[in-house]
Amino acid sequence: MILDHRKALVVYSGGQDSTTCLFWAKQHFDEVRALCFRYGQKHVAEVDIARRIAQQAGVPFEERDVTFISQLSTGCSLTDSNVLMDKEPPAPSADTPDGRITPPNTFVPGRNLFFLSIAAVYAREHGIMNLVTGVSQTDYSGYPDCRDSFIRSLNVSLNLAMDEQFVIHTPLMWIDKAETWRLADQLGVFDLVRHQTLTCYNGIPGDGCGECPACKLRRRGLEKYLKTRKNN
Ligand code: ZN
Repeated sequence: MILDHRKALVVYSGGQDSTTCLFWAKQHFDEVRALCFRYGQKHVAEVDIARRIAQQAGVPFEERDVTFISQLSTGCSLTDSNVLMDKEPPAPSADTPDGRITPPNTFVPGRNLFFLSIAAVYAREHGIMNLVTGVSQTDYSGYPDCRDSFIRSLNVSLNLAMDEQFVIHTPLMWIDKAETWRLADQLGVFDLVRHQTLTCYNGIPGDGCGECPACKLRRRGLEKYLKTRKNN
């Protein structure tokens, strides 16, 4: 299979991070597609939001059902309505000295592993060389599969698995939420990201519920960025 280096596939959820990545990809590649996953999340509204934004961006959009992911493990508050959500994003001090982390209960084990693996098979089928994901080690919420070491390792594994030369791009890996807002602004989509995306774990678009860890992280970043933004 010949993979085209001008084509990119964005793993897309309709949230702040992946929407910023969608427009980043549009700037860097000639042909961009978006792939969205239903994984048993309580708030599947995000799939509709993702589809709408992709449409506005003129990006072909597809969704895949991977609900089996949430059925493999228990205790995740994003997929199990019996589990109460952790209130705060974990502080960096939650990292232990040996580098192991205790993920919050919003962690879906294997999510990015499955998403990127499925995305790579899809990309291979469509001759797409570049995969784009919005993971970030800087504000990584304690999710081990958002770290750079995991993404690099998976990139190697996917290439070995299919004997291909995929390149996984992580434009947000080393920037924090405030800098992610700046990037959206530079890409000309600050207002779109602010008002249309869905980051909130309680399923409320835009500024969200304000109470869940995702809203808190998003708002802190926004406030920090707005202080430095001209003409706001
Ligand atoms: Zn929220």
